[in-house]
Amino acid sequence: MEFQVNIENITMSWKKQIWCLFIALTIFASNTFAFHIVIDPGHGGTDHGATREGVRESDITLEIAHLLADELSKDSDYQVSLTRERDEIVSLSSRSQNAQKTNGDLFLSIHTNSSSDPHASGAEFYFQTQMSIDDENLFLANNEEKIGRNDVIAIIHDLKRTSDSYRSQIFADFIQKNWSQELKVRNRPIKQESFHVLVNVPMPSVLVELGFISNKKERKWMQDRQGQKSIVAVLAKGIKNFKEKMDKNSFLTDIGR
Ligand SMILES: [Zn+2]
Repeated sequence: MEFQVNIENITMSWKKQIWCLFIALTIFASNTFAFHIVIDPGHGGTDHGATREGVRESDITLEIAHLLADELSKDSDYQVSLTRERDEIVSLSSRSQNAQKTNGDLFLSIHTNSSSDPHASGAEFYFQTQMSIDDENLFLANNEEKIGRNDVIAIIHDLKRTSDSYRSQIFADFIQKNWSQELKVRNRPIKQESFHVLVNVPMPSVLVELGFISNKKERKWMQDRQGQKSIVAVLAKGIKNFKEKMDKNSFLTDIGR
């Protein structure tokens, strides 16, 4: 009788075991600690972002971030960190490094859009892409000491990147759906982008462009406290939807579809 060893099957089963371990640890962590969201108000300090009629993107993003933090902090199930607390300049690398230190569960970067067309309108949502091979190699090289080079850790790292990207899309879907239903304003298709703050944070991450600061109506809406509250309500609902889905772990059954 001939005995054959199928190396590929062994490798797959090994990967599956690591995947199960990773999922078990994720479930344990998500059920044990408060859900930690990192909110990233775009721009700040001398970097005002887009501006129109004296209205600065950096002010709107900070106001929305604080309102959202206040809203989520009412519930002890949520822990909130901001990548900047005040009107100060914070580099993109500092934002991602600070986010890495939080060991957060979700990252939300807030921006406003701008166009030379004063009629351009609507929200845009971007979710974390998986890195290109070049970027991935650069990321691994830069983090070699932290994550090591052995195969097991490399596989776990790869699985985590895939899982984070997948969950980023789930979060973006929730926000977009709520945006359409609750705000009744135009929103554009969800896009996958390799923005610095999205690919350099080790957690699911989404960037939202709330609306066009170059559009008079949307500028007023994003500046007005009632408008800001309606935006915050939708973002908070999306975050809660996402947390509930993670808590139920129903997303696990979706993986691999
Ligand atoms: Zn911006």
